[in-house]
Amino acid sequence: CGIFGVWAPDRDVARLTYFGLRALQHRGQESAGIAVGDGGTVMVRKDLGLLDRVFSNADLSTLSGQLAVGHVRYGTAGAKSWEASQPHLSTINSVIIALAHNGTLVNTDELRRQLIELGVPFLSNSDSEVATKLIGYFTQRTGHLREGIRKTMELVRGGYAMTLINEQALYAFRDPHGIRPLVLGKLVDEGLDQADAASVSQLPSQDGAATVDSAVRVTRAGGWVVASETCALDIVGAEYVRDVRPGEILRISAEGLVSEQGVPAAEEPANCIFEQVYFARPDSIMNGKSVYACRYDMGRQLAHEEPVEADLVIGVPDSGLPPAEGYSHESGIPFGEGLIKNRYVGRTFIEPTQELRAMGVRMKLNPLRDNIEGKRLVVIDDSIVRGTTMVQLVKMLRNAGAKEIHIRINSPEVIWPCFYGIDTDVQSQLISANKTVDEICEYIGADSLAFLSVEGLLKVMPKGGYCDACFTGRYPVAIPESFGRDKFM
Ligand code: 5GP
Ligand code: SF4
Ligand code: MG
Repeated sequence: CGIFGVWAPDRDVARLTYFGLRALQHRGQESAGIAVGDGGTVMVRKDLGLLDRVFSNADLSTLSGQLAVGHVRYGTAGAKSWEASQPHLSTINSVIIALAHNGTLVNTDELRRQLIELGVPFLSNSDSEVATKLIGYFTQRTGHLREGIRKTMELVRGGYAMTLINEQALYAFRDPHGIRPLVLGKLVDEGLDQADAASVSQLPSQDGAATVDSAVRVTRAGGWVVASETCALDIVGAEYVRDVRPGEILRISAEGLVSEQGVPAAEEPANCIFEQVYFARPDSIMNGKSVYACRYDMGRQLAHEEPVEADLVIGVPDSGLPPAEGYSHESGIPFGEGLIKNRYVGRTFIEPTQELRAMGVRMKLNPLRDNIEGKRLVVIDDSIVRGTTMVQLVKMLRNAGAKEIHIRINSPEVIWPCFYGIDTDVQSQLISANKTVDEICEYIGADSLAFLSVEGLLKVMPKGGYCDACFTGRYPVAIPESFGRDKFM
């Protein structure tokens, strides 16, 4: 999922959130929602579908306030339903909060049961709703939202990045391992606000005093933004400040920005390495290195580890393109376009059924015969999960006249299911958990197949600590017996 939060009393927070979420749409396309706080209360609007299907210009105009959170959903836990769409609301007595969550919590069944016993109502079976209601419950009990969040962080396990609002303060916090990403940015005063200030100060002198004051106020107040990726800061004109730290709670309000360690950080961070492999946008910067540069270097490393004689290197759009450039650079084999992507079709993986997924690849990708015919191809993609994409792709490329097809994958084999917010499915569906590399090669009909090594992947990552459980089975957060055992074979 993608999450976004903003505190900026002098700005149009609903539109800022809308544009922030637009930059994060690749992180989820099932549903979208925005909640706004206006000092008195919290309003939310959400629905199934892409952001621009959910929000019209008029909808955004009705959402006025000083702060907001937003969410685009990529379903992992819970069904695809309106009730599971976010932000989730919790209203207990006078405590109203709206929460946006990216990640998966692995121990919410029991917590949910206990809350129901205490009389807390639920609309969905989503883990995010459990977190929202837990925070609401403890806030009401202790009288402090900060306490509500802290107690909830002590109770829940898993990978999470969350941002929430009440009517006047924005909060952002992250699990102790920092599995899911979350960055903090500062709105720099330029563009619209400056223009407003300038035009206001040209008003007749009668209003002079007030306008000077408001112009100054605009400049000084500014605002803060939190988002899953830095590309969402760029679009709203915010400067990257730093990452939200593992276990940290940030509170942003008229009193300024306050940081507190909600729960102790784990000894080692475990940032999801799949962000760089597949999930994040290439123009986002993570741990000081652009995702593009990471993917490019994965391609270089792959060429070094798994060379092959060929005429052309092509990448599977979009996430396979940067590593294909890197592979080409390192190997000296020319890089060219081989597959054209229909920009108006979403990520195929998001479709829930296998049948739709299979359809999706053809709807999305079409081979460029001019570049392919008679050539020995190196084809780079970021990952093989179920194998659906590759089977069809190889067929397509053969039909377009490719002479040889050498598949090179810029990540290691996905052998283990993810429990922290990426839908890499149950283990029985993961092709690498069930077949050897040779068997997969034969299954997809390629001339050769090779994956990047775990060591090679880690070598090109920026300094930091990473979760690589889907490749190695080294899970940073223990998975309770009761949770997701059916994900294993
Ligand atoms: P497969 O077709 O083998 O099941 O999945 C691999 C393809 O799906 C690759 O082209 C990769 O770009 C994409 N992919 C890999 N992991 C994910 C994921 O977690 N979510 C989505 N939406 N796509 C993925
Ligand atoms: Fe990311 Fe894989 Fe870890 Fe899941 S298991 S958080 S996809 S690295
Ligand atoms: Mg792909």
